[in-house]
Amino acid sequence: MATHALRNVAVLGATGSIGASALDVIARHPGRYRASVLAAGQSVDALIALCVAHRPDHAVIADEESYLRLRDGLADAGLPTQAHAGTPALDALVSGPECDTVVAAIVGAAGLSSTLAAARAGKRLLLANKESLVLAGELVTRAADASGTEIIPIDSEHNAIFQCLRSRQAQGDVSRIVLTASGGPFRGRRRDELAQVTREQAVAHPKWSMGPKISVDSATLMNKGLELIEAHHLFGVGRERLDVLVHPQSLVHSLVEFVDGSTLAQLGLPDMRTSLAVGLGWPERIASGVGGLDLLRHPRLEFEAPDTDAFPCLRLAWEAMAAGGTAPAVLNAANEVAVSAFLQGRIGFLSIPALVEDALAALPATPADSLDALLAADAQARRLTDRNLAGHLSP
Ligand code: NDP
Ligand code: MG
Repeated sequence: MATHALRNVAVLGATGSIGASALDVIARHPGRYRASVLAAGQSVDALIALCVAHRPDHAVIADEESYLRLRDGLADAGLPTQAHAGTPALDALVSGPECDTVVAAIVGAAGLSSTLAAARAGKRLLLANKESLVLAGELVTRAADASGTEIIPIDSEHNAIFQCLRSRQAQGDVSRIVLTASGGPFRGRRRDELAQVTREQAVAHPKWSMGPKISVDSATLMNKGLELIEAHHLFGVGRERLDVLVHPQSLVHSLVEFVDGSTLAQLGLPDMRTSLAVGLGWPERIASGVGGLDLLRHPRLEFEAPDTDAFPCLRLAWEAMAAGGTAPAVLNAANEVAVSAFLQGRIGFLSIPALVEDALAALPATPADSLDALLAADAQARRLTDRNLAGHLSP
């Protein structure tokens, strides 16, 4: 059996859903992978508990005010793990010799800085943080290409496409890439039936267990819209070669159609540990803890067209992708503000697409030639959408 050098993995967003799946796969392969850096946003106690279980060299909390609690908590637990706080500290660890592999699983645009740091540093980058690609896809992929960073997409659809292509670049022989979508918890409902849906109903995804933000994105179909823009950047394909198909069973994770009429698909149970194991082991295959797919137990695979009348976020994402420039950054920022307000019970479900549409209309696309231009568009869309919330507040 081949021997492998021990790989040091930084897990960013360690306290989240993807973070837990990544740590589960890593722990199945002691001697081959270890978690050397763990990072979270503000959940200090959860981060310390993960340090007790995984004994990393470094732990980072984004919230600087939590530094002392983290440092003292690690010391009280008798751990040698060093405490750090803030985004610059995280970016330095991601760029330095403390890791050779980075699992980018922070939620939202907050993950952009560390994603870019990893892309610039030539690490293996297991990229789950789709918002960083939506916001600054060209900058991230260009930085990765310049540094020799291998990006392995973790989003299940993009991981499926990566497996079918055996590469991150779709060549001229690819005629179409089809992203599958579960349809979310409200599949089949009409638009007027969505006005009163609750937070609890929206985050109860029928097939996947995920963090709250992406669960709401799945319910509005914005998740699929973000994934179209993600696929455009990752695989270098224009919208004319991209498509979406609703597949309620979530067993076919995406399809690649070639010019000769062949279609390749990747199938598996809906469990993110498969994508993470592909990212860690590629081009080798390693155990993930996920069992194989017994199609006799799942004899029906159904497909239908998405309903963009009931779920306008998908249409808005197509439009933002076509407009290009700063439009995807505006789409993403307005959506983050709207989803957060919905999760707090401040606005209704249908206000999410309305607020995103208003932001795109008010802030027309301009060229996105620098990180500063993109971050300015992101900030402007957040301010505008924050103000527009007033017109949507629930009674
Ligand atoms: P969760 O909400 O479960 O976890 C988010 C993680 O990000 C937490 O660890 C959180 O820390 C951390 N975090 C938040 N803000 C910051 C910050 N400013 N700095 C550092 N860390 C921060 O989300 P998911 O795991 O579901 O999703 C993570 C990413 O992966 C998202 O971009 C999502 O779209 C993508 N993804 C997720 C899938 C899934 O199955 N869950 C599938 C495909 C993609 P804390 O706990 O302290 O708040
Ligand atoms: Mg996905």
